[in-house]
Amino acid sequence: MFDKFKDECGVFGILNHPDAANLVYLGLYALQHRGQESAGIASVVPGTSTIYSEKDMGYVADIFSQERIKRLPGDTAVGHVRYSTAGGSMLCNAQPLVASTNKGPVAIAHNGNLVNGPDLRAQLEAEGAIFNTMSDTEAIVHLIARSKEPSLERALVQTLAQCRGAYSIALLTPRRIYVARDPYGFRPLVLGRLDGAIVVSSETCAFDLIGADLIREVRPGEVIAIEQQGDTAATMRVVHHSEGRREARCIFEHVYFARPDSIVFGNNVAEVRRRFGVQLAKEQPVEADVVIPVPDSGVFAATGYAQESGIPFQFGLVRNHYVGRTFIEPKQSIRHFGVKVKLNPVRDLVAGKRIVLIDDSIVRGTTSKKIVRMLKDFGAKEVHMRISSPPTTGPCFYGIDTPERRELIASDHSVEEIREYIEADSLGYLSEEGMLEAVRNGDDPSRLYCTACFSGRYPVLRDTIDREPAAVSEPTKA
Ligand code: AMP
Repeated sequence: MFDKFKDECGVFGILNHPDAANLVYLGLYALQHRGQESAGIASVVPGTSTIYSEKDMGYVADIFSQERIKRLPGDTAVGHVRYSTAGGSMLCNAQPLVASTNKGPVAIAHNGNLVNGPDLRAQLEAEGAIFNTMSDTEAIVHLIARSKEPSLERALVQTLAQCRGAYSIALLTPRRIYVARDPYGFRPLVLGRLDGAIVVSSETCAFDLIGADLIREVRPGEVIAIEQQGDTAATMRVVHHSEGRREARCIFEHVYFARPDSIVFGNNVAEVRRRFGVQLAKEQPVEADVVIPVPDSGVFAATGYAQESGIPFQFGLVRNHYVGRTFIEPKQSIRHFGVKVKLNPVRDLVAGKRIVLIDDSIVRGTTSKKIVRMLKDFGAKEVHMRISSPPTTGPCFYGIDTPERRELIASDHSVEEIREYIEADSLGYLSEEGMLEAVRNGDDPSRLYCTACFSGRYPVLRDTIDREPAAVSEPTKA
């Protein structure tokens, strides 16, 4: 089970602010899209060695009451939001993980998956380590504790050198927050300033909410100590920087995962998605009356498609923003109930129309199939599905919750077969080259981004994954 365990997460931290826990709470609020299953905050009063921690299952807003935030004193705090695949959905796996080590107390918030997490764990368990969670983050804490390096700082650097895969980390100690990003830079992590405090976040949208200014990204391979002496403002000190590898920023952050108002890897997400749409219209044109996005995932790409093609954009599908995880279905079945409870067509914008329907990705194909059927039921004349990324052919081992390969419709079906399955009149995907062109910022993006879920080119692999036969197959072509 541990092998299949992966989670999507967001991290946030602040050092040297009297309202630390409250600001972390707000930061997590802005990062809620990165994980909706559990959330937690750990804080510390400078000069003391007690780490306070509050975490629970559920949404940030539901977990943290005023009373709970009051139980997190101090001017330094880190927080975490998390979503995990089946098996890992338990409070014990919620972060930050708090531990008392021979190098002092720590609380760690981690985004990303270590591809050698299971190997590290097996090795540590063989040496007698006891694990309380199922997450690979706990292996990091064990390695820090076991390191022969006397200082926590050196122990952290030594530990991270043993970790392979994706990690964007905020580690709270009684005097500092250490932040680190793996040498590939899979997951984002940015630094900002708010008055005399320094903040760290998975995404800049959280800075906007609390009024912090972006300083810069934590660079791939960098370990930074955020600290403060006397009455001065918080400062940053680069502790370590390992270079020399290609970067592998996750392209899926831009395709789907990150919030559109964030700047991720130096590009605004909404603008990148618009460019995906422009490129998609160039590569996959079609004669139609209206461009309709699947809300919210297809909205920005649809604006680009409409702009480039000259076909009018319409919000022809309306999303109910208050749908929980589950709902009670009526005894007598209602046609399309499952999808209609979330999305409903605007009949007047749909009936009799030739529609270009835009979404960011097709995973299993079930959502697209349901939406196409529903639009046809509402009188659409034609539905032409356009996807603002290439076919999703492989799972992610670096922190995006893509299902296993056999569940991905594009892993063993051609574009024509997928079109048939979703019952669309036509289906077109954005090419990998077109997608990468949209994130070009000077340097060759094919050397800067990870496109493994589309291309099968995994930048870092575990032996067992390496041996999986289809792991390096080319994306399906029609
Ligand atoms: P499916 O029905 O399995 O094909 O799912 C496709 C839908 O899932 C699209 O609307 C995507 O926006 C959305 N999607 C893609 N990746 C993810 C993810 N990692 N988590 C949640 N939803 C996703």
